[in-house]
Parts: sequence; structure tokens; C-alpha cells
Amino acid sequence: MPLIAIAKCSKLHDYEESVRRAGGEPWVLDLAADRPADVVARAGGLLLTSGGDVHPSLYGEAPHPTFSAAEPGRDAYEIELVRRALEAHLPIFAICRGIQLLNVARGGTLVQDIPSQLPGALKHKREGSDQPFTLAHEVWLESGSLLETLMRDSLSEGESCQVNSRHHQAIDATGEGLVTVATAPDGVIEAVEDPSRRFCLAVQWHPENFYRTGEFRALFEGFVKAATR
Ligand code: MN
Repeated sequence: MPLIAIAKCSKLHDYEESVRRAGGEPWVLDLAADRPADVVARAGGLLLTSGGDVHPSLYGEAPHPTFSAAEPGRDAYEIELVRRALEAHLPIFAICRGIQLLNVARGGTLVQDIPSQLPGALKHKREGSDQPFTLAHEVWLESGSLLETLMRDSLSEGESCQVNSRHHQAIDATGEGLVTVATAPDGVIEAVEDPSRRFCLAVQWHPENFYRTGEFRALFEGFVKAATR
């Protein structure tokens, strides 16, 4: 059973459950104790999770007034994890903050606040009374991508599906090697992957919240399969 290294965040349960149900063994990382070099040597795959905003200084910008920091040390630790995971050709699956972190780690930039910087965009931050798996908007998938291949059996009308949405940031310029493989109807980037890698996939929504009903189980299964050495 492949060991899946999980970046620690405040809502771990659904990530761990999704990994277990896909056949992986969750390993929640302690940034004070688990050195990135050791993580990459032991784990079969790296799962990047949700959380606060990546500090904009990491992509050369000043913080927007809405900036809300992640836990101290997370940015640097996770960027180091990404660098080493890429070096070691470890499969990477990145979710929400994770897609933003991966993009910044590879030299890309972010839209710091969708509501104020992309007027007319859909409401991507759905919270409050919503359940975490409440569907918020459609995404259009790129035909032939890893994402679309994994999701193929559950897509409607060929290449779209509904997702949940709890983010106020998104990818602006994509980082080195990353290509956009899903967009919302307003143009916001919802998934990227690195086609030169066996498995390097990142989504802006929260597939982990659907572990009971399985709408996105294929993504976790594909990741765990790639992480099986
Ligand atoms: Mn969204």
C-alpha cells in the first residue's frame, strides 16, 4: 500500500479518508520533524492540501488587502517538498491552496482576489450554510488530458462536470511545465497538469469532500496507482 505524504492543514479528515478509500496509506507531515528529503525518499506520492494564501512576495507582488496567511513555515516547506518531489519524479496531486502553491513553486503567478480583480466572475467562494460538497459551478475539461481521461466515465455532454468551490484566489500566469486542463465558464483556471510527468495534477476545487459518494474517486485512485512503486 503506497504511503501518501499529506501536507498538514486544518481539515485533514476528508483528505485522509479519500486516500484510504483509493488504496493509499495517509502520512500527515509534521513540518518541524519530517525533512523534505526524507519525505521524498519514503513516500510514494505527495498530496498538497488546502489552507491560507501563498505569500505574494513569492511571486513578486505586494499583498492584496484580503491576504490571509497560511500557518507559519508552510509556504517554504511545501515549496521545498514540490522541488524535491519533482526531482525524484514522485507523483503529485494538489488541491485548492495546493494548485496555487504548485504554480508558484514553478514560477507562476496568482490572481490574489477573484471578486475584486476579476469583476463579473462567478462566485467561487461558496461558504456559510453550504455543505462542503455543495456544487457551485461547471468546469470544462481539456479533451485528452490526464484529468479528462481519469474523469471520462463521469462527465456530462462529453467534457464538463460540476464542482464545489471555496477559493478567492486562482492561477493567473501558469508556471513552468504546467498547462491548463480545466476552466470555469468565466475563464478562471480550475485545473492544471504537467504532461511531461507521469502524474502531476492540480485542481482548484475540493474532490476530497466527495469521498462518500465517489464523484472524484477516480482522481485519488489514479494518484495512488501512480504512487505505487
Ligand atoms: Mn471555482
